[in-house]
Amino acid sequence: MKTLVINCGSSSLKYQLIDMSNEESMVQGLVERIGIEGSALTQKTPGKGKHVINTEIKDHKDAIKLVLEALVNEEYGVIKSMDQISAVGHRVVHGGEKYSESVLITDEVLNSIRDCIALAPLHNPPNIIGIESCRELMPNIPMVAVFDTAFHQTMPKNAYICPLPYELYEKYGVRKYGFHGTSHKYVSNKVAEVMGKDIKDLKIVTCHLGNGCSLAAVKGGKSIDTSMGFTPLAGIMMGTRAGSIDPSVISFLIEEKGYTIEQVDEMLNKKSGVLGVSGVSSDFRDVRAAAQEGNERAQLALDIFHYKIKTQIAAYAGAMGGIDVIVFTAGIGENAALVRSESLKGLEFLGFNLDAKKNEIAGEIGEISTDDSRVKVYVIPTNEELMIARDTARLAQ
Ligand code: AMP
Repeated sequence: MKTLVINCGSSSLKYQLIDMSNEESMVQGLVERIGIEGSALTQKTPGKGKHVINTEIKDHKDAIKLVLEALVNEEYGVIKSMDQISAVGHRVVHGGEKYSESVLITDEVLNSIRDCIALAPLHNPPNIIGIESCRELMPNIPMVAVFDTAFHQTMPKNAYICPLPYELYEKYGVRKYGFHGTSHKYVSNKVAEVMGKDIKDLKIVTCHLGNGCSLAAVKGGKSIDTSMGFTPLAGIMMGTRAGSIDPSVISFLIEEKGYTIEQVDEMLNKKSGVLGVSGVSSDFRDVRAAAQEGNERAQLALDIFHYKIKTQIAAYAGAMGGIDVIVFTAGIGENAALVRSESLKGLEFLGFNLDAKKNEIAGEIGEISTDDSRVKVYVIPTNEELMIARDTARLAQ
């Protein structure tokens, strides 16, 4: 059984074909600049290298057509015909309160995903276009939606209700939803497996640190709290997103300083975070390099980033009544030893020490705490695509 995993953004589409007999990724690809000049498909196939197709790609349907052609291409493809794809799994950012699990896509499900557009106006529309295009081009292949919000639906009310007038929740669904759920679920289960423990016995803090960043408190295999909120803007500082700030800053800028709501929204989402403070870049590597050269604001951005992670981990120790294991994942979490060591500094009272040598690992599974640490610290590379493929294969059968 081969499962195609599709992750549609507004002008991009990531895909992977996964052979479920051994859970190996057969091909990985990215379509960029959909509907914009200079569009291209890049496909990487183990053993066959990288192949780039530069061509006009008008819309997501064009993009998916091109993906299917690339998959069956005689020279750089990996399958003989589309019939070999037994199911398609779609990443969907927002499933609202309706979906706490992945689901087979029907017309009704598609309508529910449309109902969530107001909650994720930037993310759900391209996800829907991806699903519709695939259904048109592959009408007989089962499709599954895997939601970023689903894993966090186990949060108790005291974690997800915002201290606002309660009718905002009842009327409009204003509450904490949480995101990156597929990643938090994958790494928390993986770390339990690596430790040879039953996840039901573990209190885990998962730190997903990439361009978007979120932490989750996973107790007994269930998410009981997470740092992102109503939207992926809340929580700790990120590459370009502010994370949680005093909301009065917004009315101050609008009422007193003449900003428009659109300007503030763009500022909070695209011009804040590590980029906003450092003035250098949203990419962690650039900011780290600038800090090493003596750029004080770059160093300040890193200091704030480490501090936000540290205090969030400590909060989740309180929420769970202790921690058994801390996991770092995603681009920064998997690769940046400095972020791991700096954000854990001062938390040793929880019951661990970091092993500086072990902490040098990048992009691979490994324990980075000392052997005698009661609380363990791990790096676990995330694999959201595999998680999507597993759910897809299970539901399609
Ligand atoms: P992601 O969103 O998971 O792709 O993560 C993107 C972030 O990971 C960016 O800020 C990158 O700078 C950072 N990143 C990627 N590779 C490395 C690396 N080798 N060392 C440090 N940071 C990295």
